Amino acid sequence: MNLHEYQAKDILKKFDLPILKGQSYENSIQSLEKDLLELQGPPWVIKSQIHAGGRGAGYFKNPFNDKGGVQVVFEKENVSKIAKSMMGNTLITKQTGENGKKVNRVFIEEGCEIDKEFYLSLLVDRNSSKLMMIVSAEGGMDIEEVAKHNPEKIFKIYFENFEEKEIPKELETKLGFTNSQFFEFSKIVFKLIKSFKSIDASTIEINPLVLNTTGNFVLLDAKINLDDNALFRHPEFEYLKDLTEEDPLELEAAENSMNYVKLNGSIGCMVNGAGLAMATMDIIKQFGKEPANFLDLGGTANKDRAIKGFKIIQSDPNVKSVLINIFGGIIHCDMIAKGIVEAVKELNFKLPLVVRFQGTNASIGRDVINQSSLGLISIDDFTEATKKAVELAE
Ligand code: GDP
Ligand code: MN
Repeated sequence: MNLHEYQAKDILKKFDLPILKGQSYENSIQSLEKDLLELQGPPWVIKSQIHAGGRGAGYFKNPFNDKGGVQVVFEKENVSKIAKSMMGNTLITKQTGENGKKVNRVFIEEGCEIDKEFYLSLLVDRNSSKLMMIVSAEGGMDIEEVAKHNPEKIFKIYFENFEEKEIPKELETKLGFTNSQFFEFSKIVFKLIKSFKSIDASTIEINPLVLNTTGNFVLLDAKINLDDNALFRHPEFEYLKDLTEEDPLELEAAENSMNYVKLNGSIGCMVNGAGLAMATMDIIKQFGKEPANFLDLGGTANKDRAIKGFKIIQSDPNVKSVLINIFGGIIHCDMIAKGIVEAVKELNFKLPLVVRFQGTNASIGRDVINQSSLGLISIDDFTEATKKAVELAE
């Protein structure tokens, strides 16, 4: 689960990390004039809150404005004007794609005079099974560009079991710190590790971490990704989920505890079991088409779930044909076949549909499909079934 910058900063503040005072707004900026009395400036920084990076270098679409999704403002009277111009507007950045993202939330922060910008992130490195810190003195800008052209300027430090260990002294010169700055930097790293562990994060990225002109560290930007598999341990974070940032079809699937991932192709897939669903997508691609989705119905595929699955697939306008691939084990193919037939009738489902059954009661299931006189196509062979679905999508 992704958090907005202001949410991430709220959390990190509780771990005593140096964060500037700010105020967030959702949909409107009504109380801004009053709130501004509490925020020191100039400057003030006005920041669009969307789940995508590169906001500073982005531009707004409607109305057009190329000053970026993060603006530093020196005149108090301009703060609300600029905040208003962002709220409800569509921000396009390197990470949003060409459609951009609608800005429903704006964050206003006390500004800070920057002396130096650093990049700092923590993430779980799956290769080493350790917590990895990535740090660079080339902060603020595109870290991917630094990694590509100047990989020697990026340093990686590993921590075992989230334990605080001394940060290699050589980093002091490599990052250009004085002795006392290095000491302060280490304290920040340890506080971040502590927060990472206690909130069950999968990533925390601070870009930039800055040294301000009075020589203190400040976390100017913060991105947190929480580990979805550990969310059950954190009911306190539930309300942080911004549903407007989620794909509506994926949300609906999640509510029905189905595993659905929206993709961009034209063949809708409904499969039981994640492995079979992956294989189904692979074969579709092999025949030159793209799957419209990944959908694992789960082990309890019945009529209700089939209906929900169909509804989700049907609401994706890109879908031209549907491939249902079921391996009957504990669940019987004939039961699913009845579910499919009833669902197609109930929803008046019109898209071409190919069904492939194997396993328990596959032949009875096939009969149910063939006798339904709904124009459903039943093919036993995985390859042939896929070819047919591909052909029908053309
Ligand atoms: P991002 O572009 O989405 O990563 O958004 P950031 O929060 O990182 O902001 C982009 C850039 O704006 C930062 O790299 C800073 O250079 C600048 N910036 C952010 N806050 C301040 C601030 O308080 N004062 C100044 N002078 N610049 C800021
Ligand atoms: Mn940033």
